[in-house]
Amino acid sequence: MTPAAPGQWQNPQDCADLKQLIRAIPDWPKPGILFYDITTLLKNGPAFARLIDILAAHYRSLKVDLVAGIEARGFIFGPALAYRLGAGFVPIRKPRKLPSVTVSAKYALEYGSDTLEIHQDAVQPGQAVLIVDDLIATGGTANAAAQLVETLGGKVVGFGFIVELTFLKGRSRLSGYDVNSLLAYDE
Ligand code: AMP
Repeated sequence: MTPAAPGQWQNPQDCADLKQLIRAIPDWPKPGILFYDITTLLKNGPAFARLIDILAAHYRSLKVDLVAGIEARGFIFGPALAYRLGAGFVPIRKPRKLPSVTVSAKYALEYGSDTLEIHQDAVQPGQAVLIVDDLIATGGTANAAAQLVETLGGKVVGFGFIVELTFLKGRSRLSGYDVNSLLAYDE
């Protein structure tokens, strides 16, 4: 499979239609941040279905054992995608949310810093893991998620995002991986 350039995943008309459904909120959660709110897309049934179908079509040819979703918005479409791919779903969570033994990774955000955790037994060595989140900004969150999967011996077969803020060059922190986004924003 040839990796797609940002925003070139599928039919440009699909991308334009889906992009129209994403709401941009200035100065949230703090001044200077333009927050891309996907809830306006998710509440549209046909658009949400189309989104999952596009993602599933892209990854169907890949052998994916597990879809790992990053808290919180990766939990929204990760399980739907896992269902369509016949894969399992693994949550990558904020600290102290997972009840069993965890491994953790600290990372820098576009706004602040945080830690992610995964259950130690969530991934078996050699399993093929697709990591998903709603948005890639600086790439720090996704990079930490990959570290967690690889610490457990999993193989990261790709990253899938709905939105990519291309001007933040998050992709450069994921070099060597197959990184795909559906909707690219240049500024
Ligand atoms: P980063 O680690 O910088 O790539 O940030 C990506 C994570 O932060 C994802 O989980 C996003 O949901 C969230 N995020 C960062 N910036 C934004 C933004 N401008 N709009 C919406 N979510 C964002």
